[in-house]
Amino acid sequence: MADFGGDDTEAFRGEARTWLEANFPEALKANPAAQMAAAMGGKESPEAKLWRERMGERGWGTPTWPAEYGGGGLSRPQARVLAEEMARIGARNPIGGMGVMMFGPTLIEYGTEELKRQHLPGIIKGEVRWCQGYSEPGSGSDLASLQTRAEDKGDHYRVNGQKIWTSGANLADWCFCLVRTDTAKKHEGISFLLINMRTAGVEVRPILLINGTSPFCETFFTDVVVPKNQLFGPLNGGWTVAKRLLQFERDNISAGLGGGSIGAPVQALTVETAAKDYVGLDETGRLSDTDFRRRVTEHLMEVHSFQLTVRRAADEARSNQGPSAATSIMKYAGAKVAQDRNELIVEALGANGLGWEGEAYSGPELAAVRTWLRSKGNSIEGGTSEINLNVVSKRVLGLPDPK
Ligand SMILES: Cc1cc2nc3c(=O)[nH]c(=O)nc-3n(C[C@H](O)[C@H](O)[C@H](O)COP(=O)(O)OP(=O)(O)OC[C@H]3O[C@@H](n4cnc5c(N)ncnc54)[C@H](O)[C@@H]3O)c2cc1C
Repeated sequence: MADFGGDDTEAFRGEARTWLEANFPEALKANPAAQMAAAMGGKESPEAKLWRERMGERGWGTPTWPAEYGGGGLSRPQARVLAEEMARIGARNPIGGMGVMMFGPTLIEYGTEELKRQHLPGIIKGEVRWCQGYSEPGSGSDLASLQTRAEDKGDHYRVNGQKIWTSGANLADWCFCLVRTDTAKKHEGISFLLINMRTAGVEVRPILLINGTSPFCETFFTDVVVPKNQLFGPLNGGWTVAKRLLQFERDNISAGLGGGSIGAPVQALTVETAAKDYVGLDETGRLSDTDFRRRVTEHLMEVHSFQLTVRRAADEARSNQGPSAATSIMKYAGAKVAQDRNELIVEALGANGLGWEGEAYSGPELAAVRTWLRSKGNSIEGGTSEINLNVVSKRVLGLPDPK
């Protein structure tokens, strides 16, 4: 039966409020970054660990996932109420990462009972970290040309090959990985394997990113033994599963890009604060630089309409079959919004937006520069803007392939 909210949902508000008041560590209130440390791959304080464990136990880090695997089992309206109640007290969801955003939803849709029982509880509790083994040197946009080979060895697959740009591979416990199981066919020769990163033969080398961090890696597989029960989806049928996962990925990335840059934990400077503090206001309280004022206004209008569209698309997706190819529109637009935001912030900072390190610059100024550099990747990760435009033209608008 459709759940449109109402009395039950409001009753749930009381339950959520009581539970949050009793379980959210007060000390974390002023520190959203600390609350999400584990999900962002950082070091967790004792309070943050406690908060993650409590939310994981309750299943509210994945509020709408099925209760039978440990998820919250909440309806959409209840999940919205939970989010409102958390926002009211400054609580952030401490459970995230690729397991929650990409692999988990795909596993719920396509997984066998055995794989769901094995992998969902660890994701729900925020105890197991996942990374994405899709891209290879030479296989990015043309992902289906991937060469990492999985050979059938009777009771297991033997995997050899290399992945690249594997975000968080150095911290991950497991990798959802695309491998070639048939060399005669392209798309129909790909399978989806779940690989334990602690297996012998898995080697990870971090790559330094332009903003000075190493969030992604080269990942090498040399004679890695993967039990056959870790095949997810049909043999040689991994491409369909992979595409579905990409829709969840683009859906999540675009939602994140609307509010803050992906890869930057918490943005200290917003366009508004940077403009007011660094460009300055005239006697009527408006930004003194008229051209900059016009561009900031245009940007804020675009952000607002983008966020409304993301929300509407999410509501539509829930009443249909989850995210669709239209997520490519959101990923494209979200990357642009995020990159425009970071350009405006750095421009507002002027000479203060040129710092890399040192005491001449404040912490928020240095963070703004690194976030701006990181935002260059927003139009590449999860499928480039050009590829997303191709998806929109083909799958959303139904246009023919260019000759
Ligand atoms: C921050 C970040 C994190 C990432 N994390 C991961 C991860 O965790 N796991 C993972 O597997 N991958 C990850 N990636 C890799 C990402 O998915 C690829 O970089 C992306 O798919 C592009 O592939 P490529 O780099 O090989 O570029 P290429 O495919 O070589 O593309 C180069 C350029 O050509 C354009 N181009 C290519 N084909 C076409 C076409 N048909 N039509 C029009 N233009 C085209 C592209 O748009 C791009 O501008 C990450 C990338 C970044 C930047």
